[in-house]
Amino acid sequence: MIIDGKVIAKRIRENIKAEIQENNYKPKLAILIAGNDSASKIYANAKVKACAGVGIDAEVFCFSDSEEGKFLKKLEELNVDENIHGIIVEMPLPKSFNSQRTYDIINPLKDVDCISTYNMGRLFAGNPLYLPCTPHAILTILKQLDINFTGKHAVIVGRSNILGKPVAKLMLDLDMTVTQCHSKTVDLQKYTKMADVLILAAGKKNLINGDMIKEGVILIDAGINEYDGKIYGDCDFQSAENRCLYITPVPGGVGPVTTSMVLLNTLEAYKNAIKNTYSK
Ligand code: NDP
Repeated sequence: MIIDGKVIAKRIRENIKAEIQENNYKPKLAILIAGNDSASKIYANAKVKACAGVGIDAEVFCFSDSEEGKFLKKLEELNVDENIHGIIVEMPLPKSFNSQRTYDIINPLKDVDCISTYNMGRLFAGNPLYLPCTPHAILTILKQLDINFTGKHAVIVGRSNILGKPVAKLMLDLDMTVTQCHSKTVDLQKYTKMADVLILAAGKKNLINGDMIKEGVILIDAGINEYDGKIYGDCDFQSAENRCLYITPVPGGVGPVTTSMVLLNTLEAYKNAIKNTYSK
């Protein structure tokens, strides 16, 4: 069965919109883009549109790859601006930037994609303030399948700090046995064929095909690869589709749910700001 991320996303957005309207909340999200990554601009615009749809105000700030000083100054201003509740920094930052500085200074209360050193620490310590948006989307998609995942084998392809590693942590929390693969993994298909739940987060078109998966696998494809003006996942959908119990398409799978998680975390950040608390 093909999992329709747009349907899941719509349901989440309706709930967020209702809560904002009922309580007359005024959340605001700031989105920072640095450099010339065209995908970052597309993702930022999609977030602004989604925010407008649920009643969250959003503002985008753009910087060139030679403006790290200006970028950090703006980030520090937004950190203490009482009218801003969530901050998203579009990734990747330019190579000329020291990304670690951003991770270290972003206000954890407003860090709605969980990129800060503090929030990453809390996530791995088992007491997250916010779940990072794409891993949270993957978790949400799996949970709505209403399957008992205890003891199942999750194989994750990718180990980045924003995606692969937090996904592995969330799958461990579902009591699955977890294998994490990466670019140095020898004989990738040996592991992908063992997966009950296969999560792709490599950013490589056609990395996985139907011959590399077990019959009846649940396949979640978070990859986004632009090729000839079209978007593809990490999996060759056509060859894999019939072997999967469930599969997410690209586009229309993880992506829309991720955007909904940005909205959900921004609402959460707004409520945290009202309570002025770091505790759950
Ligand atoms: P990174 O480039 O930071 O990480 C990619 C990971 O994939 C690395 O761990 C890398 O291994 C691994 N990898 C690369 N090539 C191979 C290979 N041939 N075999 C096995 N592993 C491999 O990317 P991100 O984690 O930021 O993003 C991954 C993908 O997810 C991208 O396509 C991105 O666009 C997409 N994405 C989607 C989102 C959504 O909303 N759906 C949101 C965010 C990202 P190593 O560590 O050894 O280099």
